[in-house]
Amino acid sequence: MQLKFYPGTNRIVCRWTEQVPFVMGEKRGTIEKVRSINLRVNKGGSLRSKDVQRHGSHPLFQAVQDFCQELRRCGVLQGEPEEQPCVHCGALTDVVPFYDPGRGRMVWACAEPDTCGHGRQ
Ligand SMILES: [Zn+2]
Repeated sequence: MQLKFYPGTNRIVCRWTEQVPFVMGEKRGTIEKVRSINLRVNKGGSLRSKDVQRHGSHPLFQAVQDFCQELRRCGVLQGEPEEQPCVHCGALTDVVPFYDPGRGRMVWACAEPDTCGHGRQ
């Protein structure tokens, strides 16, 4: 599961994979499918009510709310947060907050994990 905040659009994107069963002729199995939801956060740090209605019963919703609280606490929503380097590679551009629900904390890392490390000097 990945929880990521896009400061440009004020959206939390929550992405995870699910095992989805399939049947194809005689063949049965499961495939891994990537699912995601995305929620708009307003400047005050609350989620847009439309998104709450839509996703409030989602199992990951609590983590989204905790993330929101962290974003507010760290001043990310109030504009100009301090520039943070990526915790993995130290890059300073395209770095966004991620939330680790297991540890209950926020970390800054490259927006696209695939390109993480490429910005290293
Ligand atoms: Zn990185």
